[in-house]
Amino acid sequence: MSEEQRGVILYGRGRDAVAEALRELDPRYVLVDPAAQQPGQVPVRCCRDAAEADAARQAVSGVAWLVVELYQPGVNIAHARAPVLSLNSTEVDPGLAARAIDQSDLVTWYEVIHPARVITVDGQPPADDYSNIEIVVPGGHRMVAHAVRAEETPPECLPGAALQILPSDDLWALARLRGFEVCRACTLRHG
Ligand SMILES: [Zn+2]
Repeated sequence: MSEEQRGVILYGRGRDAVAEALRELDPRYVLVDPAAQQPGQVPVRCCRDAAEADAARQAVSGVAWLVVELYQPGVNIAHARAPVLSLNSTEVDPGLAARAIDQSDLVTWYEVIHPARVITVDGQPPADDYSNIEIVVPGGHRMVAHAVRAEETPPECLPGAALQILPSDDLWALARLRGFEVCRACTLRHG
């Protein structure tokens, strides 16, 4: 968690459980009125819906509010104004949601090991209809997820530009959920 004055606004299904999980993760997350908070604390607000979340964000300036929508697929709810961190509450349990919120500036870059190659089967240049093109996936092809803090240089465990790197905005906290292999060094650093 950064030291910048932050706040979290939650709305949607399971918001109270996520607020509780945030408190368990780090006691600096407190359910208080921002006007009454102590230095170093991060106010957490639970709102009934998007409109209330928008109003709460506007009501207190000088706080970098992270607005979090907890949605369920197939259930239509109104969205708060961007930027909003959207988490699928049927997939992300409260503890994981708390971690994703706490590490919301930590994204995933994928290292592609033995990247797939495009070749032409006849050794000629690609045909207009691509009929001589084949995609070769070498043995051992896989992707490893690394944690990169937004706007910081990538960690040393992420190899240089000679290999294929795919930057993404995917939250690091959710990398395991997506079934990717995760880097050991990044896991030790960030959990
Ligand atoms: Zn790494």
